[in-house]
Amino acid sequence: MSRDNYEVIIGLEVHAELSTKTKIFCSCPTKFGASPNTQVCPICMAMPGTLPVLNEKVVEYAVKAGLATNCEIEKNSKNDRKNYFYPDLPKSYQISQFDKPLCKNGYVEINVNNTKKKIGITRIHIEEDAGKLNHDDFSGGSLVDLNRAGVPLIEIVSEPDLRSSEEAEIYLKKLKSILEYIEVSDCKMQEGSFRADVNVSVRKKGDSKLGTRTETKNMNSFRSIVREIEYEIDRQIEVIERGEKVEQETLRWDDVSGKTFPMRDKENADDYRYFPEPDLVAIKLSDEYIENVRKTLPELPESRKERYLTQYNLSEKDANIITSSKYLSDLFENAIKVCNNPKAVNNWIISDISRILNEKEMEASEIPFNAEQLGNLVILIDKGTISSSIGKKVLEELFENPKDPEEIIKEKGWIQISDENEIKEIALKILEANPQSIADYKAGKDRALGFLVGQAMKQTKGKANPKMLNEIFLEELKK
Ligand code: ADP
Ligand code: MG
Ligand code: ZN
Repeated sequence: MSRDNYEVIIGLEVHAELSTKTKIFCSCPTKFGASPNTQVCPICMAMPGTLPVLNEKVVEYAVKAGLATNCEIEKNSKNDRKNYFYPDLPKSYQISQFDKPLCKNGYVEINVNNTKKKIGITRIHIEEDAGKLNHDDFSGGSLVDLNRAGVPLIEIVSEPDLRSSEEAEIYLKKLKSILEYIEVSDCKMQEGSFRADVNVSVRKKGDSKLGTRTETKNMNSFRSIVREIEYEIDRQIEVIERGEKVEQETLRWDDVSGKTFPMRDKENADDYRYFPEPDLVAIKLSDEYIENVRKTLPELPESRKERYLTQYNLSEKDANIITSSKYLSDLFENAIKVCNNPKAVNNWIISDISRILNEKEMEASEIPFNAEQLGNLVILIDKGTISSSIGKKVLEELFENPKDPEEIIKEKGWIQISDENEIKEIALKILEANPQSIADYKAGKDRALGFLVGQAMKQTKGKANPKMLNEIFLEELKK
């Protein structure tokens, strides 16, 4: 039997690390990449007798995320203990939120094949991250790094509203871009700042009851998430077709074999023995507080997109690509401020920059050059200092070794030849070497002109001014 007889159901739990300067319950820094156990204190090391103090910024950022995803904000919220033992969680419980999350009942709108669809947000709650285990190849043991312990997280739980891996990917990208826009998380997936637990089930078409789900933990690449979902759909259908039942399990994805493996039986909420955190006071928010947070919300991607259509005449497709990432969108706007040429900046971002990001498997946030450098590149081309083909080389260089384009072309000797005598000399040499092309042109084959210009560009390694070449060739051919 084929997939056509089944409906796929997906719900996602996204963990995003908040970009507060300090941790959620102590004043240790949250900066990524420090040497192990250098950003710790008795509180986040879970020394007995220490007391947590809630970081106000964490509440503000979570409320901001809730407002940006159309949630209701809970004015009477609190923290709860979620009890479980794990070697990188020395308290043996995680301070999280159980029955009174800060935000609930929201939605994120996604665009699937030009149709708008709302994906429900069940809840957003705040909690602390755990530490990290580093598996030691030499001793065969594991070493605990508690730098991440106590880094603030929001968990964004979606309704089981997604119906394909494609929808899941679109939803995640949209959610990530919203969090980036409101600047509550840097969402660097390779650093684990944005990761998802992926819940998948299938049911026979027409069934009203949801099928049993599996949950694959801590996925942090879009590509793996899509592969994992596709794999689970096939695996679950096969199990059902064999007449067996899908087990409710927590799974681990292995990117190399492209398969999921069971980690443990799925626990239920009661297994965690949740109870209100006795060391923290309740979180009470006033209407005024919520309204003040609302006022700090910046322009969101949807509205930027609309503005690009009218203000800069971008196509719907280009505007979608650029606003999908705050980094790209900021790059676009700030480069325009420098060069005042929206069309050119648009083209660079949509074609060459996107292509290079793809090739290098980089995220837009990792672009090493800044908007001023991109703007200056556009200016150099507009002024005719370099040709657009040299411009492409400058862009490659900006990715490798970013500095001002003017400096790059000086160093590399890439300045365009625009001296009329010099161009003429080049053109005459090319004509001399290609009598057949002259004859062809005179016989009415216009293509010969393009060939000659191409030859001249080749000989000058792209440095000759193509417009001038064209004119001079024409002049000579008409003689
Ligand atoms: P838990 O913490 O046990 O994983 P949550 O309620 O926090 O439970 O999250 C459950 C997630 O699983 C939600 O995103 C929800 O949409 C999704 N989900 C629930 N039931 C199903 C199902 N049958 N198939 C797919 N996803 C589901
Ligand atoms: Mg879960
Ligand atoms: Zn600390």
